[in-house]
Amino acid sequence: MALPIQSTPTYRTVLPVSGQDIEYRPFLVKEQNILVQAKEGADPKQTMQSVKKLLQAVTNDKVVIEDLPTTDLEWLFIQVRKVSVGDTSKLMFPCVNRECPNTKDVTLNLDDIQPEGNLPEDYTVMITDKVGLTLMVPLVEGVEKVADLKEESQTVELIKQSIVNIFDEENVYEGSDLTKAERDEFVDSLTFPQLELVGKWFDQLPKLSARLEWDCEECGTKNEQNLEGIQNFF
Ligand SMILES: [Zn+2]
Repeated sequence: MALPIQSTPTYRTVLPVSGQDIEYRPFLVKEQNILVQAKEGADPKQTMQSVKKLLQAVTNDKVVIEDLPTTDLEWLFIQVRKVSVGDTSKLMFPCVNRECPNTKDVTLNLDDIQPEGNLPEDYTVMITDKVGLTLMVPLVEGVEKVADLKEESQTVELIKQSIVNIFDEENVYEGSDLTKAERDEFVDSLTFPQLELVGKWFDQLPKLSARLEWDCEECGTKNEQNLEGIQNFF
């Protein structure tokens, strides 16, 4: 018997970093389980796996989720969440005043989550007068690879992965021609000020964030929260 199964509406969004125009649909009852797993997964890696699986499904496998910048993945997830479940999310926060036992239910309007920061005007960073690097925005695949490392090592590994080329006055050394050992040697030989310069380039890249403010009824403290990262946006 052919039951009248409704066709799912589709929506479009332009991803804030890559600029890709993407079509998506809401997630369905059968996919709810993936989201529950993501929400409950204490392990960020597991959450990421679930989110990727979900986004792959709602974009009909037309987008390679691994190849998106992480900010775009988060953006897409929030858009899908909005049309599937609703455009607000209820969060609970303890008061910042440590002596106050109050916790507050705060409603986050998902439209308030916006990219902060701008795409770089220049994708090159000069590490000396003569030597520079051309970099690319890190993608989900690369960020996942470094997720288990300590924070300092994460930056170093991300830089190694994100080198498009290295150049001096005479030559351009394409990243695709470099062996892993050559990349490692180059980045491991940077001085700390040089590392900081390159790190700054990554820091300026757009990130999604939302600002929440609430006054505690118990103690009157003004609470201000800056939310970043997909874990906060379920
Ligand atoms: Zn309080």
